[in-house]
Amino acid sequence: MRTHKIAAIGGDGIGPEVIEAGLEVLDALVTQDGGFRLEVERFPWGSGFYRQTGRMMPEDGLDTLKRFDAIYFGAVGAQDVPDHVTLWGLRLAICQGFDQYANVRPTRILPGVSAPLKLHSDADIDWVIIRENSEGEYSGQGRRSHRGLPEEVATEVSIFTRAGVSRIMRFAFELARGRPRRLLTLITKSNAQRHGMVLWDEIFEEVARDYPDVGTDRMLVDAATTRMVLKPQSLDVMVATNLHADILSDLAAALSGSLGIAPTANLNPARRFPSMFEPIHGSAFDIVGKGIANPIGTFWSAAMMLDHLGERAAASRLMAAIEAVTRARVFTPDLGGKATTREVTQAVCAALAHR
Ligand code: ATP
Repeated sequence: MRTHKIAAIGGDGIGPEVIEAGLEVLDALVTQDGGFRLEVERFPWGSGFYRQTGRMMPEDGLDTLKRFDAIYFGAVGAQDVPDHVTLWGLRLAICQGFDQYANVRPTRILPGVSAPLKLHSDADIDWVIIRENSEGEYSGQGRRSHRGLPEEVATEVSIFTRAGVSRIMRFAFELARGRPRRLLTLITKSNAQRHGMVLWDEIFEEVARDYPDVGTDRMLVDAATTRMVLKPQSLDVMVATNLHADILSDLAAALSGSLGIAPTANLNPARRFPSMFEPIHGSAFDIVGKGIANPIGTFWSAAMMLDHLGERAAASRLMAAIEAVTRARVFTPDLGGKATTREVTQAVCAALAHR
């Protein structure tokens, strides 16, 4: 039987709550499917681990994770540990260490969900944002000097390489080619950032020549926010830098109803290393331990993980079960409902049983 090895890292805040919910749903799916097995191992890494050991994960953490086919990840971030420690010590360490250069963020309005925009139809929002995930503004290059003095200086250098930009463009064109509308929008800020962003423009044009069947256009990132709100139906796939796409995808999640719904995949497309699947939200301290975290983004991420592992039928069944539950408006409070994480999880397991 096909077996996929999954490393589950709940992390901080509501991360462990939604990951446990996701594992329960995956268990129900696998039991009914019968065609494959998931071998899941949990890792208690994150801020709690940091408080005990001074590290967000063990020194050989990446060596351990290398043995897995995929990583199922919750969230990082704690009130008493600096954000740059939590982020760089675990999530970014995995993304960069495993060269997960393509971050894929689909946005749709799921059935039953009331989105904040007035739309002609829910289908008006059907986007995939592709975020360059290995360099750009989050490449970690920079320095601080003269600390604490009036002359203190900090630099945060964005790195854009021909190799890095070319591969994300190819990935974006391939993905756009596989969608019905075949439209790819390049998002930059090449009027103000005239080096790195102009390189993005040029490589986009070069790569576009190999994809004559994909329609293209370009937007500056500020104008893109307006277009997402006022003309959402005019967008399909967007490709943007690490920072720009980070911001745009939070906007996209809010426009689709809640941050709690949105999934993401951090892919190593060449499959040299495991890819990582996670909800886009953070640790959400205001609701930790209350049992009301929305697990839908984590379930949708599980569907993306199954798809990546080649279990397409199981991924579709899981998406259909998620949509049956949102259609029935079994919602946590962030979506205006009264259901708990547990109730949404049980509803998805029950919907799976009927499929
Ligand atoms: P970060 O770790 O990125 O700094 P944060 O805790 O500041 O995260 P997010 O976790 O991204 O922020 O979420 C912002 C707010 O959105 C939360 O405070 C919470 O109220 C809400 N939220 C986020 N995710 C969920 C979810 N899964 N279910 C319900 N509400 C959510």
